Amino acid sequence: PVDVPHATVRTTCPYCGVGCGMEAVCVTAPGDARRGAPEHAPENKQQNAQAAMPEIHGDALHPANAGRLCVKGAALGETLGLEGRLLAPAMRTRGDAKETPRTVSWDTALDAVAQGFRAVIAEHGPDAVAFYVSGQLLTEDYYVANKLMKGFIGSANIDTNSRLCMSSAVAGHKRAFGEDVVPVCYDDLEAADLIVLVGSNAAWCHPVLFQRIARLKEQRPAVRVVVVDPRHTATCELADLHVALKPGSDVWLFNGLLSYLADRGLTDRSFVGAHTHGVAEALVAAAADGGDIESVARTCKLAVQTVQRFYEMFAATGRVVTVFSQGVNQSSSGTDKVNSIINCHLLTGRIGKPGAGPFSITGQPNAMGGREVGGLANMLAAHLELDNAAHRALVQDFWGAPCMAVQPGLKAVPLFEAIEAGRVKAVWIMGTNPVVSMPEADRVRAALARCELVVVSDVMARTDTADLAHVLLPALAWGEKDGTVTNSERRISRQRPFLPPPGAARADWDLLCDVARRMGYRGFDYPGPHAIFDEHARLSTVGNGTGGVAPRQFNLAGLTGLSRAAYDALAPIQWPVPCPATGTGPTGTVRLYADGRFSHADGRARFVPVRGCWPAHGIDNDYPLVLNTGRVRDHWHTMTRTGKVPRLAGHTSEAAVDMHPHDALLCGVREGELARVRSRWGAMVARVRHGGGMPRGSVFVPIHWNAQFASDARVGAVVNAAVDAVSGEPEFKHTPVQVEPF
Ligand code: SF4
Repeated sequence: PVDVPHATVRTTCPYCGVGCGMEAVCVTAPGDARRGAPEHAPENKQQNAQAAMPEIHGDALHPANAGRLCVKGAALGETLGLEGRLLAPAMRTRGDAKETPRTVSWDTALDAVAQGFRAVIAEHGPDAVAFYVSGQLLTEDYYVANKLMKGFIGSANIDTNSRLCMSSAVAGHKRAFGEDVVPVCYDDLEAADLIVLVGSNAAWCHPVLFQRIARLKEQRPAVRVVVVDPRHTATCELADLHVALKPGSDVWLFNGLLSYLADRGLTDRSFVGAHTHGVAEALVAAAADGGDIESVARTCKLAVQTVQRFYEMFAATGRVVTVFSQGVNQSSSGTDKVNSIINCHLLTGRIGKPGAGPFSITGQPNAMGGREVGGLANMLAAHLELDNAAHRALVQDFWGAPCMAVQPGLKAVPLFEAIEAGRVKAVWIMGTNPVVSMPEADRVRAALARCELVVVSDVMARTDTADLAHVLLPALAWGEKDGTVTNSERRISRQRPFLPPPGAARADWDLLCDVARRMGYRGFDYPGPHAIFDEHARLSTVGNGTGGVAPRQFNLAGLTGLSRAAYDALAPIQWPVPCPATGTGPTGTVRLYADGRFSHADGRARFVPVRGCWPAHGIDNDYPLVLNTGRVRDHWHTMTRTGKVPRLAGHTSEAAVDMHPHDALLCGVREGELARVRSRWGAMVARVRHGGGMPRGSVFVPIHWNAQFASDARVGAVVNAAVDAVSGEPEFKHTPVQVEPF
């Protein structure tokens, strides 16, 4: 049993990458109603309903939010009931929702997982198994999953739903800086004179960050905000300029900016000469894309004056932060888009200084933490590289690993294709719902239905993915979990438990360790998450700048050796955290690359020459509209949490297809009526809306709805599975579709 505190517990929001600090105020002795109460027992249901749940407030001392919360975050206390929770291990013989899973003991369930994986590995080799994990996992969970798969099973077939969200930013950072590093911090937004938001509806998707920008505009009206987005989103309310470019034309816009800056002598020659490589090649590529403002305006379908004004604002302002998010990343040329933005900051030396730099903001609460421990199929832990023999040897030695993976594993889309083809025969899916969230989601569902062994660990008993599981493992939810997450500005914060584990639920890291031991592996006997964090921190220090391994920014040397009490008391801190001077405590690092020394072996950043490239699938007469997907303000992912709160449905109550009234007229559909959205890959049904700021030719459908809330409302079934060749991130922002009456 966990010793759960009874008073105020400081923790971190489990939703977006802003990573707001929260206080959970336990108003009754916690756990009296929830402890192990199966929801099918009427008396427990009643008791659960009557139980006063903890109140959730913003943490005034957390640097990310200083007490502020958005609507979703503020409603978290209403999501803590046990309705729908998976509270005991369960199994079914076929991966089919029609067969009710039978409750089994932990021994039975975990033996089935361990023996199932071992049998597949023995017969088909380690690459016949896979883990598909989640940016919802804590860093400690992620670390153990990665260690088990890459160091002991001997495959790199572990990928994450973060692949769908920010892997293009990761790839762009690595190409430019030599490491997956976000050089800026939230305070840089407040120090900036110009904030450019590209492909980011921060007002809905990162609301507290948006509130910080709004306050900044109030306090310093001279601050300018530019929004680059095909849609006129809620974020445009703050914009001095909305650059409503043609979907997919971002590289042309930023290549044009690069040419504009260079042509007007705005290159920071001393910075570029001393700290970068490749400027000439990048300028040649940019010029080949058109170069002049008129040509950019033509390609991006913008007014010449709009392009001119954006370029003039960028050119005239030293302190510029360019914030980018899924609108940039979720593209078949997402990595090039990222580098086209970074190139402009490198050319002007606007990086490593207060109020200046490119800023990737992550969608999920721990997408950054997953990257730190190598939770992507092409990475090793501690920002080390899987395709580098010296790095592999270093990690193998540190782990005492018997069987290191020697090559990158399957990224999300090819992973599910390998399941479909029968090459991957056993998969363990943790804390995510790919039957809803993946592109070509119907194929993903069919693939899992054919897979020999599907293990799902989740907090919910029924999801579109859990319905296909052979083995269901109950996991801890927010409020019960104990570990760390890292937000978009590299700040590590604690998620602390304030509720006891319900039923038989266990921590994800604990399940992974138990299965590892049952598979016969050593090195998985952690007394608690603090010990995993310590191992993770120690690994970050090994070979950092020695033994042929280039120095990395990622370094938690100052957080090694934390006792359980020190781990519990850990205050939010930004990595890198170097060893503290004697007699002082660890301090984080606010901003990176201030000294102009980047993470490539020669210390120089790289300009990456990029050329504009249209999305993989263009519109045609049969599919004349571009489907764009994303979040609505008050829901999260597949709504397993936000769907429990009636007041959150007030903003958007059902799946909707936002479209321009002229397009609706041409398609023969009317506002308020149901319509079918169809692509070459699948179809879904949603209600037509004329809001959403849609330009002609584009429609927008939210990602949240699924079979648990409405039939046929999975937009993932419609989305094409084209991916970026470098990052593997799918093109969620551009699928040709038609809309027809339902
Ligand atoms: Fe949570 Fe993001 Fe809202 Fe902050 S802005 S409360 S992290 S959802």
